[in-house]
Amino acid sequence: MKVIGLLGGMSWESSAEYYRIVNERVKLLLGGYHSARVVLYSVDFAEVERMQAEDRWDDAARLLRAGADALRRAGADIIVLCTNTMHKVADSLGPILHLGDATAAAVEAAGVRTVGLLGTAFTMEQDFYRGRLESHGLTVLTPSAEDRAEVHRVIYDELVLGRVLERSRQVYREVIARLVERGAQGVVLGCTEIELLVSQEDSPVPVFPTTRLHAELAVDLALRGSGPPGPAR
Ligand code: GLU
Repeated sequence: MKVIGLLGGMSWESSAEYYRIVNERVKLLLGGYHSARVVLYSVDFAEVERMQAEDRWDDAARLLRAGADALRRAGADIIVLCTNTMHKVADSLGPILHLGDATAAAVEAAGVRTVGLLGTAFTMEQDFYRGRLESHGLTVLTPSAEDRAEVHRVIYDELVLGRVLERSRQVYREVIARLVERGAQGVVLGCTEIELLVSQEDSPVPVFPTTRLHAELAVDLALRGSGPPGPAR
């Protein structure tokens, strides 16, 4: 079994889910006492959040590159960056299992061509993530400006702080319904904390929970004995 390197802390609320999911999947697939071989490098999210807010992406890239290199030195074979947003600096990290590719593969396998995308404003509004999905031939719809602001606010004011509120779940349900009205055949939960709030029962179309998809693919690769995929584009 290859070693999975989790580059997490963004936020730790979702990194804990990654750790749980990789172990659950290894247990499911191998049974018995088996568990995942994992190295975790967890950053202080306050530093990363400040860099995002101050548009200091080069600093963030250096910080995360140091984390990825530390994981490799510690024996990690497959690097998993546990956040959609920070894939903005994926090109700086060396070979990683790209979350956009893991998601697109699941969307394609489900026969879905047009997806709604929920995530932080960075993820919904910039090209690094939606462009990655589009490079797989998918059509990506994002919420209205007002809805994007609310989706983003819930992530930073609540979910990364471990606050899961029913009224925000209702807001997300309504945002999803509006995306479906506009033609979304599926919805990408493109922030690793969103699946703490929203599940399949909150959507009339298939949801694609990026934490689960990413973590499970990492295990499948680890058990296949595959090394890390090619360098991030
Ligand atoms: N975990 C989130 C994501 O998947 C947001 C936190 C961050 O900015 O990294 O985008």
